[in-house]
Amino acid sequence: MNAEIVVIAEVAAEGWPAPVSLELIAFAKSLRRNAAEPIRVFLPGIGIGAAAAELARLPGVAVTGIEGESLASYSAEAWKEALAPLLAARNPRFICVSHNANGADFAPGLAVRLGAACITAVEAFRIEAEGPVFSRSILKGKLQMEIVPEAETAVVTLLPGAFRRGDAPSSPMDKAREDGTNTTQNEAVLLPEEFRRKAIPPTGATTLKEKKSEVQGDRAGPPAAEMISVPDIPLKTRPLGLLPAPDEAADLAAAEVIVSAGRGIGGEENIELLRRLASLFSRAAIGASRAVCDAGWLPCRYQIGQTGKTVSPRLYIACGISGALQHLAGMRGSQCIVAVNRDPQAAIFRVADVAVVEELVSFLPLLIAACRKHREGAAEAGR
Ligand SMILES: Cc1cc2nc3c(=O)[nH]c(=O)nc-3n(C[C@H](O)[C@H](O)[C@H](O)COP(=O)(O)OP(=O)(O)OC[C@H]3O[C@@H](n4cnc5c(N)ncnc54)[C@H](O)[C@@H]3O)c2cc1C
Repeated sequence: MNAEIVVIAEVAAEGWPAPVSLELIAFAKSLRRNAAEPIRVFLPGIGIGAAAAELARLPGVAVTGIEGESLASYSAEAWKEALAPLLAARNPRFICVSHNANGADFAPGLAVRLGAACITAVEAFRIEAEGPVFSRSILKGKLQMEIVPEAETAVVTLLPGAFRRGDAPSSPMDKAREDGTNTTQNEAVLLPEEFRRKAIPPTGATTLKEKKSEVQGDRAGPPAAEMISVPDIPLKTRPLGLLPAPDEAADLAAAEVIVSAGRGIGGEENIELLRRLASLFSRAAIGASRAVCDAGWLPCRYQIGQTGKTVSPRLYIACGISGALQHLAGMRGSQCIVAVNRDPQAAIFRVADVAVVEELVSFLPLLIAACRKHREGAAEAGR
């Protein structure tokens, strides 16, 4: 078996490496048994030369850009067809993929093609003598499941935001050796939850200029990305391209206050309560968990989270949201999180600045009345 670790990177809409790719590279570096283990970045797409060159400037990685007409729009079929033979030839130890909409789509099929293990939605890992032990949340974040791969190669999908992007420190095993500590001891390699929440800027809020300078900040010699072309891949589906989201969806990105609905609101009829609360703030918008959008209580453009929007308002009011990792991935960059939930054990309280254990339908009218009174008092004082 090759000791190599492969990262499947992505290009953001503006043509720069997607921030999740930098998280994946940092993750891959920490998985190495020692700093000499190579990391290979595969970047599929078209017109990706600039992004590949930017990634090649990162120390300790070799980059292969994979270009082809069939890769112009994302398609699980095309990505699997293009990547599988290249990966089979390298036989890597780990293949790191982002657990975003694309990664969650193609990674399991890729693992099947390669006869590899597939471990999805990984949030953290620790190193044991036999190798990494990965962990992921189950039961809406109330329990952690630990998993080890039993195959030579493992496709691992990493939850966006779970790992600090940028250049990773030396691998956990290197660090343990330097410290003189036993490498078989458990070692947390991810940042503590609280630090992560403050430290990771939401990907959607990063400007083009910032992205460029982050990559250039790691400049180490001339860029040297290898570029290969893949022939046309016959596909069973044809992506028609991307459509812009309706204007209303833009409100969420610009909102300073987001009142977000979870399944705990009980039904579509109670959305009105959230609208009334939001109307008391300027630049406020309504958001939702996936459960609410799946139930049809709000359209899916309101969805916040891993497969929805990433937001970072000044105030995020989570109403009846359990706090599944996939939801947190889209809102944990909020400056202040207020969570209302009747379950004192709800996972959302782990990231909340203010925790309210209450029945929503009785608490929200009281909160609305109190906010209204406060506003009227402030207006009175201003006269
Ligand atoms: C690949 C993948 C991607 C996903 N992407 C997303 C995503 O982008 N965004 C997202 O949100 N989810 C996403 N999910 C789903 C996610 O795992 C959760 O299922 C979802 O977030 C749960 O939504 P919820 O918190 O509203 O509902 P639940 O988990 O059902 O939680 C409801 C909460 O309301 C509380 N509650 C119930 N009644 C009341 C009451 N009367 N008063 C007060 N509190 C009450 C309960 O205690 C509970 O904590 C994804 C899942 C997968 C597998």
